[in-house]
Order: sequence, then structure tokens, then C-alpha cells
Amino acid sequence: MTKRAYNFNAGPAALPLEVLERAQKEFVDYQNTGMSIMEMSHRGAVYEKVHSEAQDRLLSLLGNPEGYKVLFLQGGASTQFAMIPMNLLSEGKTAGFVATGSWASKALSEAKLVGDTTVVASSEEDKYMKLPDLSQLDLPANTAYVHITSNETIEGVQFSKFPDTGDIPLVVDMSSDILSRPLDMSKLDMVYAGAQKNLGPSGVTVIIAKEELINESPKHIPSIFRYSTHAKNNSLYNTPPAFSIYMVNEVLKWIEEKGGLEGIQRENEAKATLIYDAIDNSNGFYKGAAELESRSIMNVTFRLASEELEKAFVKASEEAGFIGLKGHRSVGGLRASIYNAVPYESCNALVEFMKEFQSKNG
Ligand code: PMP
Repeated sequence: MTKRAYNFNAGPAALPLEVLERAQKEFVDYQNTGMSIMEMSHRGAVYEKVHSEAQDRLLSLLGNPEGYKVLFLQGGASTQFAMIPMNLLSEGKTAGFVATGSWASKALSEAKLVGDTTVVASSEEDKYMKLPDLSQLDLPANTAYVHITSNETIEGVQFSKFPDTGDIPLVVDMSSDILSRPLDMSKLDMVYAGAQKNLGPSGVTVIIAKEELINESPKHIPSIFRYSTHAKNNSLYNTPPAFSIYMVNEVLKWIEEKGGLEGIQRENEAKATLIYDAIDNSNGFYKGAAELESRSIMNVTFRLASEELEKAFVKASEEAGFIGLKGHRSVGGLRASIYNAVPYESCNALVEFMKEFQSKNG
């Protein structure tokens, strides 16, 4: 048996052991080709099969929504922060941003460099620990699209519902919660995510978008930055990150084996409930950082009474074999990232550790 760490890293993060083992078996000789997937032409039939299987699986897990296309790009979600306004924000229009935390702020800063932006809802006053109410969004008439971050990885807040933006395209950064639960794509025009949390290794960024948003792009931007370039070339305009896409395909198979998104959601909710219950039943020793209704089932953020105690917690947890529990340096505190591939057993072990730490330090 391989000894696996209790990995709570925020990303790159834990991958399913089954997937790693399957990839290991095929690593040197992919399906009797005499070479690894990394050594073959991205124009050959063997690689192209993997590429299109990954695209089809992704759409199938989302219920095969009509009129959507999958793109595999590079440069991480951060590149999308710039590419989205470059492609979708024209002169005289404004991009509407929902300001929910660190990642939404980064997306906004980049869009500002490209064109006009408007913050249409914000939870800055609540230090981003509570999500803004999006039920009555007041959007300027010239809104090109609305951008939201479905899960703020650093603050640990997650939308459970998406706003209705009518005819205005809704673009969602789902980097840290894509495929963690069933998704109704009918309200969403474009979803994007770096792969390294729920989908596979880093190196590929997945985009699922309505074809009308990506089939035509402005001609004044370089071709490599146009969605239309990648859409027309089926994400094979330039050399794709073949190994990462192969791994995404394997992770998608694993999700199918788990019972699809419903199965994954059940597990994710059980894991999150286990840890939040430990926090809430600690008589105030542990305190959830995010407001109750806004809590994320992917990134559990919590605090202790003092920074010293938090430091002691991190140190003791590392000694006990837990990885990645220190909160992001910008907000401090503690964070357990429990993406799809983090096993229930790891969460259970964490809860046992939390109780023990409390009994020694409470
Ligand atoms: N958006 C969110 C919600 C994220 O969590 C991250 C990465 N932690 C990013 C964007 C940036 O992703 P990348 O590092 O792939 O550019």
C-alpha cells in the first residue's frame, strides 16, 4: 500500500490515488504505442482520442448542455482574467463584477486594464466573509457580461445559487469548485477553471462556453488570445498540455465511477459537514471564518483565539502528517481544502487531530 499524506493543499491539490496509479501503469508505454502520452504528436490519432474524450466527458457530466464547447487553454485561470475582457468587452460597454474576495479582485484588476468595469455587488464591507445578495442585481444597460467567482478559495465562501442575468452573459470563475456538485448550465454562459484543484494537474485551463461567445472574437487582439482561434482549431491551434489533458480525462472517468456529480456532491457535503461540525461543536475553541450561509464545501476556513495558537496548530498538524492547513498568507488563520479527491478518511483524521489539539490547548 502506498502511504499517502493527509493532503489539504489549496492547489495543486490531492489527486485520486486510483488515477495516479492508472497513469503510472500507462506512463512509459501508453496503450502499446511504445511511448508515453507526452512523447507523441498532438496531431496523431492516439492523442486526439484522449483530447476529444476529455471534452465529451466534461460535457456529459454536465448533462450535455446544448450549444456549448470545451476549450483547453494554458496560462491558468489568471490568463482568463485578461482574455475574457479582451474577447468580450468592447468599447462603450462595461463588465459587471461581483466582488467576493481575493480572486474576484484579481479578475477585476485585470479587466480594468482592458476596458470599463462596474462593481455590481460587493462584500468588501464584510471583509469578504459573507457573500453579497445577488437576487436584485442592478445591471447597467451597457453591461457586456457579469463575472462572478463561484468559490473564493482564500476566504472560503461559495455561492450555492447563481444570479439570473437575463440576456447578459454570466461568466463564472469555477477554479476551486468545478465539478464538485451538479450544475445547471442553462444560466451560465461561460465557466472557466484552472485544472489543479478538482480536475487534474496544473497546466491546463478548462473553458466551457456557449459557442456564440467564443466563435467570433475581435480581430485587433493577437490570434493566440482569441477564443475563436482555439474554438476553430478544437484547442489544437498550438501544442496543448497533452499530459495534463490526459490526466483530466482520467479524473473525469473517476468522477463518473463515483456516480457523477450527484455522487461527488454527496461525498463533498459529508466531508464538509464533518469538519464544520467539529468547528461548531468546539465551544468556541475553533471559529468558522466565513459566515454560516456563505460557507464553502471546498475550502473550510477557520480561526483560533490567537495567532500564536494558530501557529502552534500548524506546527503540530505538520508533525502529525497533515499538509497544507495554514491559511493563505493574505488572510491568515487556517484552511482545510477538501476538493473532490480528498478522501473522507483524511477529513476524519483531521477532526480527530482537532479534538486532540483542543484537549491539550483548550
Ligand atoms: N481563481 C480562483 C478561484 C483560484 O482559486 C485560483 C488559484 N488558486 C485562480 C483563479 C488562479 O488560478 P491559476 O493559478 O491557475 O492562474
